[in-house]
Amino acid sequence: MQISLKETAAELKAKQRIVITAHVNPDGDAIGSSLGLAHALRALGKDVQVFIDDDIPAAFSVLPGYELIGKPVDGQNIPADLLVAVDVSLDRIGRVAELCTAPVLNIDHHVTNDGQADKLYLDGKAAAAAEIIYQLIGELGVNGNRDMAMCLYMGLATDTGWFRFSNATPKTMLAAADLLAWGAEPNLISEALEQRPFAEVQSLAVGMQKIELLAGGRVAGACLDYATMQEYDAPEGLIGMVRVIEGVDIAFTLKEKEPNLCRVSLRSKGLDVTKIALQFGGGGHVRAAGCTIEKNCAEARTDLINAIMQVLEAES
Ligand code: 5GP
Ligand code: MN
Repeated sequence: MQISLKETAAELKAKQRIVITAHVNPDGDAIGSSLGLAHALRALGKDVQVFIDDDIPAAFSVLPGYELIGKPVDGQNIPADLLVAVDVSLDRIGRVAELCTAPVLNIDHHVTNDGQADKLYLDGKAAAAAEIIYQLIGELGVNGNRDMAMCLYMGLATDTGWFRFSNATPKTMLAAADLLAWGAEPNLISEALEQRPFAEVQSLAVGMQKIELLAGGRVAGACLDYATMQEYDAPEGLIGMVRVIEGVDIAFTLKEKEPNLCRVSLRSKGLDVTKIALQFGGGGHVRAAGCTIEKNCAEARTDLINAIMQVLEAES
């Protein structure tokens, strides 16, 4: 059932033991909005725990509360009055779905949200889940502080490509300005994320060598098979390099992270890439989406390119 922001705030106020979770393979928005909400609820005197079923990259240790994020273990019972899932649909919270059986409040900005939660606050126009949490903090009547600000700024900045993408609206910028007033230090956040291991920077060159142009230059992508992934620490920034190629509308990367398991990232400058990701059970946003294809790199590449071509043809 979809609910309003006011009802979301009322739901949180009514519950004491609250567990927050976000998507596996967590990014700056998943981690930042989870921790930002945790800080706000603690200010209200709630018992709050954050569980994410994945490893949290060390770069995020710049965020206050990073060390308190738990990774669930098999068989663990996670007691709570309410499970809050942010920046995600329930199919991507990993084992938290089984280990915490409390009613679920879902707060999300993905247009592809599957609506499976007991209660859902969905704002597909919000640039980041962190933008919703910022609005929610106002609705809860909590005074913002540096801890909340650092975490939420992380979410806003990473999901908008540092306020460069089309999802950044006046609301986003006003929220960011307010977060600075609360004490956020954007330079610390960007410095923490900029730092890359030497091997990863070098692997960017390997990934860039693999970029291929398709559909007369409207599509570009790089596929890294399992052997390549084993040899190099595959860079997160590769999709950004594909995206900047002149004339490219759809950019993709395909990384075979385990044998016969490929993670796909999709970006676009115009076309709706959720149409491609949804075909493989993934999702995301119009201009940034992703999915997993359980095939080897070569087979997954063929399937992905076919799906991209279909979408291109349908649009032309
Ligand atoms: P990225 O390429 O950065 O991993 O993901 C781009 C966007 O698509 C993010 O908003 C992310 O949450 C979403 N996304 C990526 N992979 C999946 C997936 O497998 N399922 C769904 N529902 N969304 C995804
Ligand atoms: Mn997000």
